[in-house]
Amino acid sequence: MSHQPTGLSGRIALVTGGSRGIGRAICIALAEHGAKVVVNYTSRKEAADETVDIIESQGGQAIAVKFDVKNRDETSATIKDIGKQQGGIDILVNNAGIAINGLMMRVKPTHFDDVINVNLGGVMWCSQVASSFILKAKEHGRIINISSVIGEIGNVGQSVYSASKAGVIGLTKSMAREFSSRGVCVNAVAPGLIETEMISTQMSEDMRQTTIEQIPLKRIGLPQDVAGVVAFLASPSASYITGQVIRVNGGMLM
Ligand code: NDP
Repeated sequence: MSHQPTGLSGRIALVTGGSRGIGRAICIALAEHGAKVVVNYTSRKEAADETVDIIESQGGQAIAVKFDVKNRDETSATIKDIGKQQGGIDILVNNAGIAINGLMMRVKPTHFDDVINVNLGGVMWCSQVASSFILKAKEHGRIINISSVIGEIGNVGQSVYSASKAGVIGLTKSMAREFSSRGVCVNAVAPGLIETEMISTQMSEDMRQTTIEQIPLKRIGLPQDVAGVVAFLASPSASYITGQVIRVNGGMLM
């Protein structure tokens, strides 16, 4: 007998950067668990529409909504509209992120501002606006932030990215403490190396092989490896988990 989990049935989930990569897999997983998913994107409308099509073809519900998480005014107005139109927001997954690499000694102010404003500012401001809805969802409310193993261990050429992802961990723990009195759980997921455009465009074949050697499970992760954990954290089964960083990295950091 085929069995679809329905633990998120009736819930509204907003996933930033849901058009591609890890975000797309998260949207699909949340929809499989019964949530109606708002798929955010900023530039690739076709990719966001494709995520919606995949979800609808599986009998789920989704809509694509454009906003740039580093644009505070646009983000605030759009998330308020989403909350009003959908009758609330129960789950926010702050997944949108960018990686610009370069040695610390050569980092330019625009590089710093772009990465911090998307990866950390985006989490801050999306959470602030969405929380007025999520707090009303009480024990069903969830904020799940995508950090990175690089936020915990650092990396050559990734000082700003690492700082942004470490910042996400601090923000997660503080929000978890602030929202706990309302039953809302806030957690971070810290992926290791995951097969998406973010790495395929930035890593040579040699670098890939060297990195795989350093991963105990000897493979690069898949977006679905992260999405399953996010769907679990969003579910009623995870209602006693808050302020945690869940590592999904093939054992890179134990
Ligand atoms: P991709 O580059 O494949 O996808 C990035 C997604 O973020 C796209 O949906 C993109 O939208 C969206 N996005 C980028 N900038 C903005 C913005 N300003 N506003 C709204 N949306 C935006 O990335 P991944 O799937 O690999 O990464 C997803 C998250 O996981 C990121 O936070 C990343 O840092 C993190 N991560 C990734 C790892 C990896 O190895 N891949 C490892 C650890 C963490 P659009 O399609 O419109 O451009």
